[in-house]
This record gives sequence, structure tokens and C-alpha cells, in this order.
Amino acid sequence: MIYLNKRELFSKLPSVDEVLNQEDIKNTLEEYPRNLVIECIRKVIDRKRKEIIDIKDDKNNINLDLNNIIKDIKNEINISYALSLKKVINATGTVLHTNLGRSLLSESIKEELWNSASRYSNLEYNIEKGQRGSRYDHLADTIKRLTNAEDVLVVNNNAAAVLLVLSTLAKDGEVIVSRGELVEVGGSFRIPSIMELSGTKLLEVGATNKTHLKDYEEAISEDTKAIMKVHTSNYRILGFTESVDIDELSILSKKHNIPVIEDLGSGVFIDLSKYGLSYEPTVLDSLRKGADIVTFSGDKMLGGPQAGIIVGKKEYIDKMKKNQLTRALRVDKLTICALESTLRTYLDEEKAIKEIPTLRMLTYKIDELEEKANDLLNKIKELKIDAKVCVEDGLSQVGGGSMPLETIKSKVVAITPNNMNVSTLERRLRLSNAHIIARVYENKYILDVRTIFEDEYDLIINELKNIFK
Ligand SMILES: *Cc1c(COP(=O)(O)O)cnc(C)c1O
Repeated sequence: MIYLNKRELFSKLPSVDEVLNQEDIKNTLEEYPRNLVIECIRKVIDRKRKEIIDIKDDKNNINLDLNNIIKDIKNEINISYALSLKKVINATGTVLHTNLGRSLLSESIKEELWNSASRYSNLEYNIEKGQRGSRYDHLADTIKRLTNAEDVLVVNNNAAAVLLVLSTLAKDGEVIVSRGELVEVGGSFRIPSIMELSGTKLLEVGATNKTHLKDYEEAISEDTKAIMKVHTSNYRILGFTESVDIDELSILSKKHNIPVIEDLGSGVFIDLSKYGLSYEPTVLDSLRKGADIVTFSGDKMLGGPQAGIIVGKKEYIDKMKKNQLTRALRVDKLTICALESTLRTYLDEEKAIKEIPTLRMLTYKIDELEEKANDLLNKIKELKIDAKVCVEDGLSQVGGGSMPLETIKSKVVAITPNNMNVSTLERRLRLSNAHIIARVYENKYILDVRTIFEDEYDLIINELKNIFK
């Protein structure tokens, strides 16, 4: 075998123009922007040049075949042009995975969502009167029907909802909050910081584990603009604890003529304890017990798009609608459409549990999961890969800062490769085209079928086939 020296190798590298004139690349130019193609050609040629520079002895096996270089370039173009935000397979079993897009929308709203995205709509137009309308009107009827609230306002997310509520009702005044409820959610939402931002002064009462009604009562002064209760959905203080329920706070606040606000975090419309999950206060309960304003997320347990929903007394919500902040925090038509269609599903509880992916995944029965896991197991077994594969008991999580202590019994497929590190398997499946995100536990690669869609099984099978071939 004859090896070329470095100078000879450099002279074999094609120029950008040479590559551009290749038939294969000319075709590529019809599909992809010229600048991007040139950038990728340069990148691949540069990479080859560096490989030549790095050659340590006179023996080398650098492939400078033009066809091979063109293949690399086309690959580079594909990677560069792909969207950064892409589909992944969530095999972690965490239903509301904050890092993986939180809640998922139902397939059944696909057409309505696309219509409102690609065609004109009556977003801010009153068709009957032939004049300007309000974007918020589209959601009002459904939400009122579901919650019996007097009025509704929807903003970008629940953090924005809390900000708007405080800024409207309590600016330049004090808001009383129990010390046990000063939560941080998702590392970025802190009640004290939101209070500061809204121009209200936080008055903490009680101790971390215990707050009594009289703590609130003694703190009320002429500067008090509201009492706020925060549902500590992402952590829980256990043991010797006491907090004051919203109905008692409501009586107290009425006596002093100030509003009581409840931040529910993960708003639910259905009592999920019926389906084997622990009880979370519903929006309806909170309003019935006397909360004047309730805020919650659209994309936690509710299972809709990212949004912050504010429900409650009309007199307060009217003020919020007039706040300039509302304009800055306003939701777009896609959110309104996705939320309205998701909420409409709730008018029939059984349908909601079946059709809304978040609720469906949270309420799977264990034998349904076992069947799902066995289906996946059988498909993997057909591959005859060099690994031990079996179905095991597992634990899924609700996630999204909801029900912190809640783990739900699940069924998982566990893979232990015989001739590969399990972390190598994890990395290769994560970096594969299917982008499978899963846990490794006790030297096993764990696929929790709760959050895997059945139509994703073949993608998983394909990637396993590639890796174990
Ligand atoms: C999640 C949560 C928030 C923040 O909601 P986003 O929709 O993520 O902005 C605020 N308060 C509580 C209690 C929460 O659980």
C-alpha cells in the first residue's frame, strides 16, 4: 500500500467551487439555502484539512474520496437545517416532565388548532355585532361553565397570572402569606420575587410548619391589600403541621373587606382521587370555599397548552383587564384555540380522562401498563439482542411540580446489555434519531411505558437494532 504525504493529501482536497459543481450538490441547492450549503461544504473541507494536519506518522487512512466528502456534506446540511426543538421519546415515566415539554395536547384538537393557525379567525372580532371583540371572550363561557366563576382572564403562564393579580390588587400595599407557603417552583418561580416585581410588600406570618388563623388576623392593618394562599404542590412539610384553609381565610378577609387569592399551581377540574391519585384541590372547590381569585397553569394537570388562568370575582378581573400588564402578558390565538378545545373536552369527564394525554397517562390501570410493557418486551425479544430484557415493576411520577410525594406504580421494560456499558446504551439511544430519554437504575436501562406512545415502539426497536447489530 502506498501512502501519500501531507502535501499530496492537501492537494487532493476539493475546493468549494469544485464541490458546488457536483451534480449531487446542485440538487441539494434546490432544497436548501445556498449560504447554508456553502457553510457546510467549508465545514467539512476544514475538518478534513485538520485531520491531515493531525496525522502523526506517514501512514494514514484518511478518506478523501469526493463521493465520501459529498456524503459528509449532505449529512452536515441535514443536521444544520434540522429544527433545534425536536420530538423526543419520553421513557422516564414522568408525565409532566418540565424539561420535555410538560403536558401534551390531544390528537383530537389537531384540525381546529391548524385552522386557527393558518386561516383568519374572529380572534378580536364580534361576528354578530360586526365590530371589535375581545380575545378573552372565547374562553369565558367554557371556563365559567366548568368552574361557576363570575369571570375569567387568561395570560401566558401561571407565573404571569400571579404577577398580574398582585400588581392589580395589591400594588403599593401588603399581601399576607403563610411562611410555610413561600415556595419556589421549577427553580425560577419564587413567590417573594414575584411579589417584589409586582410592587407589593410581602408580609410573612406564622412559622414554617404552622400558621394559625390568628396569625393572619393579627397581621392585618390598613396597608393590607390581600391575603394569599399558595398551594405548595411541589413540596410538603410533614409531621407537626397546621395551615389555614381557604374557607376560614375567606371569612376573615370578608370581615376586613379585602380579597383572598389562591394560587393553585396545578389546576384540576376533576377530583383525581377517584382514579387512585391523591386528592388535589379542584378549582371549583377553591371558588366554592370562598376564594375571590384563583390562579392555575394550563399545562400542568389540566393537560392544555402553556397558559395562566385567572378565575373569580368580576370586579377584580375587570380591573386586571384594564391593567397595562395584561397587554404584555397576553396569550396568542394558538393558545386560546388549544385551551378552548382542551377545556371543552372537560364537559364530559369520561371523555377528558380518555382523550387528554396527561390525564390518560396518569390514570392508566396497572394491567393496561403491563400489557403495554409486554408488547414492547415481545418486540424487543424478536430482535434477539445481546442483552437481558424483562418487564419489571417501576414507579412513575406526576412531575411538573405536582404531587411531590406521589409516585405511581408502573410497569417498565428493563434492558441490561451483556457486552456494553448501560450508560453507553443510554447515551446512544439519547443521541439517536429517535432521541429516547430514559433512566438508568441499578445497571439497567429502564423504559417506563406509561409515557411512551404505542406508535413509538417501532422507533425504539429500530434504534436498538442499529446499536446491537
Ligand atoms: C407551577 C406553579 C407556578 C408557576 O406556573 P407556570 O405555569 O409554570 O408559570 C406558580 N405557582 C405554583 C404554586 C405552581 O405550582
